[in-house]
Amino acid sequence: MRMFYDKDVSMDALKGKKVAILGYGSQGHAHAQNLRDSGVDVVVGLHDGSKSAARAKEDGFEVLSVADATKAGDVVMCLLPDEVQRIVYAESIKDNLKEGQTLAFAHGFNIHFGYITPPEYVDVIMVAPKGPGHLVRSVYKEGSGVPDLFAVYQNYTGKAEETVLAYAKGIGGTRAGVLETTFKEETETDLFGEQAVLCGGCEELIKAGFETLVDAGYQPEIAYFECLHEMKLIVDLMYEGGLERMNYSVSETAEYGGYVSGKKVIGEASKAAMKEVLADIQSGKFAKDFIAESESGCKKFHAMREEQYSSQISETGRQLRSMMTFLKK
Ligand code: NDP
Ligand code: MG
Ligand code: MG
Repeated sequence: MRMFYDKDVSMDALKGKKVAILGYGSQGHAHAQNLRDSGVDVVVGLHDGSKSAARAKEDGFEVLSVADATKAGDVVMCLLPDEVQRIVYAESIKDNLKEGQTLAFAHGFNIHFGYITPPEYVDVIMVAPKGPGHLVRSVYKEGSGVPDLFAVYQNYTGKAEETVLAYAKGIGGTRAGVLETTFKEETETDLFGEQAVLCGGCEELIKAGFETLVDAGYQPEIAYFECLHEMKLIVDLMYEGGLERMNYSVSETAEYGGYVSGKKVIGEASKAAMKEVLADIQSGKFAKDFIAESESGCKKFHAMREEQYSSQISETGRQLRSMMTFLKK
């Protein structure tokens, strides 16, 4: 394992260089602003009719077309939606890449699954923050950082590692520590984590708990607090000190109950399902299905989103949260 902190990394590789940030969404706005605050020259690339272009301009950035930003950048960081990247790459990036430039990503999806094949005369790197873009920005402003994974896929110039580490430092990653990986490992573990544990798994666990209580006749508001709202308090404890801190902080009753009942809920069947999920990620099946869904207009995707939005737990939550004055808008 190779891990780097602030003191191990120099910003020299980005000195006098321009970084083009393509996209100004969750990750884009955070990378652009953090890099600028770290003294790096940043330009933003967006498409015609982009909703986020106005925000980037308001935040003081020069906004160019994707093609012009690609031409202008020594480092070109692709922070477009994963399902859009291959299209924009073919239309506006590919033919504008010059020898010795650096093409960068925050997730290995398109490179690893072969949707983008860069020319051999550029460096290809990845800096993948292990957290949502809005945290990448807010934590940086507080003087700290979100940890990143970094990887070098192609090292044409021989200097790709200096570049990738300087970039990670520029967005604040080295304040928390940046860990070396490969495009393959980052892509497969990131997809697995979000599907099986963080987004999909966690969401279904919460929903199943909520529905079990409501079906048994308990008030939906109580079920919401118990199964969803309290999740953050528990996860915060895990974040600070792992499972042991969480179990230290909860009651003996909760700790004992957790040991005996947790495995009944997430047991061998769930692990077998996780292995299936991982196999579909590794084989490229998930990626193929996702791209096909995007190409056919996202009908199934949007129907699932709508179903979730109109479910009882979502409705209960919207009502309750409107009364929670402590929640930020
Ligand atoms: P968002 O969806 O938040 O933002 C995408 C940006 O791309 C928007 O500014 C959007 O502009 C712009 N965009 C959309 N279509 C086009 C187009 N055709 N041409 C040019 N610009 C376009 O993306 P994320 O920040 O979530 O994701 C970016 C990358 O970062 C992905 O690879 C993702 O996997 C990775 N990542 C994301 C994380 C996250 O926290 N979200 C965490 C770690 C990695 P507009 O909407 O105005 O049109
Ligand atoms: Mg992801
Ligand atoms: Mg309790």
